[in-house]
Amino acid sequence: MIDLSQLRLEPGVERSVEVPVVVPVLGIGGVDYEGPLSPPIARVNITRLLTGLLLRLRLQTTITGPCHRCLEPASVPVAIDAREYQADHPEVGAESEEVCDYLQGDELDVGAWAGDAIVLSMPHKILCREDCQGLCPSCGTNLNTGTCQCPPPEADNRWSALQQLVEDDTEG
Ligand SMILES: [Zn+2]
Ligand SMILES: [Zn+2]
Repeated sequence: MIDLSQLRLEPGVERSVEVPVVVPVLGIGGVDYEGPLSPPIARVNITRLLTGLLLRLRLQTTITGPCHRCLEPASVPVAIDAREYQADHPEVGAESEEVCDYLQGDELDVGAWAGDAIVLSMPHKILCREDCQGLCPSCGTNLNTGTCQCPPPEADNRWSALQQLVEDDTEG
């Protein structure tokens, strides 16, 4: 939390604050991902404009959680650079872009903002490494560290049926 009333904001003057941020647990695709144990330092810039406040949040950290393929722990570096605007007299109603959801009165909830920004910046699939081999679908062996005796997956019969249909069609 940053208390903006402490910053003596004046029009046109940018204030810069560094704060440790406790990254909330991030639920991504139903799985929990976490920030580092020691809170990373975020830099927040606040500029008072004539009609409102301009807010910028920058943070670099590492998020850890299970690999999408093999379920072993994976770490993903993230760098966020997010902006928000809070108008002094925002348009009433609608999904206004003039309201910063993380500002309650003079209190800026940096943790919640950082959490949302991190989720947006995360890759779609979190992998322990680019070429992770994943788990064998039959026996669950981690194919990064071992091999198994399972036969290769059977050809999909639905696919050959479909192929037959296509062939019949071209002949007809
Ligand atoms: Zn993996
Ligand atoms: Zn197997």
